Amino acid sequence: MLRVDDLHVSYGVLEVVKGISFTAGKAEIVTILGSNGAGKTTTLRSLSGLRVHKRGRIEFMGEDISRLAAHQVMARGLCLVREGRQLFPDHTVLENLELGAFQRLRSAPAAVKADYDDIFALFPRIKERLSQKAGLLSGGEQQMVAIARALVGRPRLLMLDEPSLGLAPKLVRSIFDAFGRLRERGITLLLVEQMARLALRICDRAYVLEGGRLTMQGTRDQIMQDPRVVEAYLGRSDHEASDAG
Ligand code: ATP
Repeated sequence: MLRVDDLHVSYGVLEVVKGISFTAGKAEIVTILGSNGAGKTTTLRSLSGLRVHKRGRIEFMGEDISRLAAHQVMARGLCLVREGRQLFPDHTVLENLELGAFQRLRSAPAAVKADYDDIFALFPRIKERLSQKAGLLSGGEQQMVAIARALVGRPRLLMLDEPSLGLAPKLVRSIFDAFGRLRERGITLLLVEQMARLALRICDRAYVLEGGRLTMQGTRDQIMQDPRVVEAYLGRSDHEASDAG
C-alpha cells in the first residue's frame, strides 16, 4: 500500500532523513521507533506532502505521490494526525469534525452521519462533548477529536505522530485500543511513538530510526526480542508498561 524508497529529507543544508526505505501494507500497524531528533516527525511530514525538501520515491496505492501537495496526498486517503493536534480551539468539537468532513458533507451527508456514529462508538467521550469548544477539552480528548477528524475524511492510511504525548495512561490505553479496531476496519496505521513498549504491543511490524537511518526492522516479535531494542528502548521503560497496563 505504502512503499517508501530511499527517502532523503533536509532542512537547508542539514540532511535529517538519510535514505530510508520501508513499507506498510493494508490493515497493518507499522511503527517507527526512535529517540528525540531521529527524524520521525520529519519522515511523516514528508510523506504527507507538507513542504520539506526531499528526494526519493513515495508510492501509495501504486501511484508515485512524491511530488504531490498536502491536499492532493490527503485526497488519496493518506492522512497525518500531527503532534500538538492542530484543532481549532475556538470551534466546537462538532465544528472541528465537520472541517474534517467538509468535502463529503456536501456530496454524501448521510454517509458522514454514519461515520460520526462509527466514531462515537470508537470514542464515546466525543459524543458527550460535541458542543464544547475544542480548546477546553483535556489533552486526551483533544487527541481523540484530532483522530476522529482525520477519520471522517475516510483515510486509507492514517499517520499518527506521538499520539500518547502528554496523556494520562488510561486515555492512552483507550486511544491505542481504538487503533486495533481501526486495523480491523481495514485502515493502515503508521505510528511514530516514543513509548516503545506501548507501540510494540499493538503493531504488526516495526522499524527503528536512528540519526536519520533505519537501523533495525522486523516483525513485532523480532523487534521486541532484539537485544539492541531491549537495551535502548525497552529496558528503561518498565514504568511505561505498568502505567499503560
Ligand atoms: P522528536 O521525537 O523529538 O519529535 P523526531 O525523531 O520526530 O524527534 P524530527 O522532529 O524529525 O525528529 O527532527 C529531526 C531533526 O531535524 C532534529 O535535529 C531537528 O532539530 C531538526 N529539525 C526539525 N524541524 C526542523 C526545521 N523546521 N528546521 C530545521 N531543523 C529542523
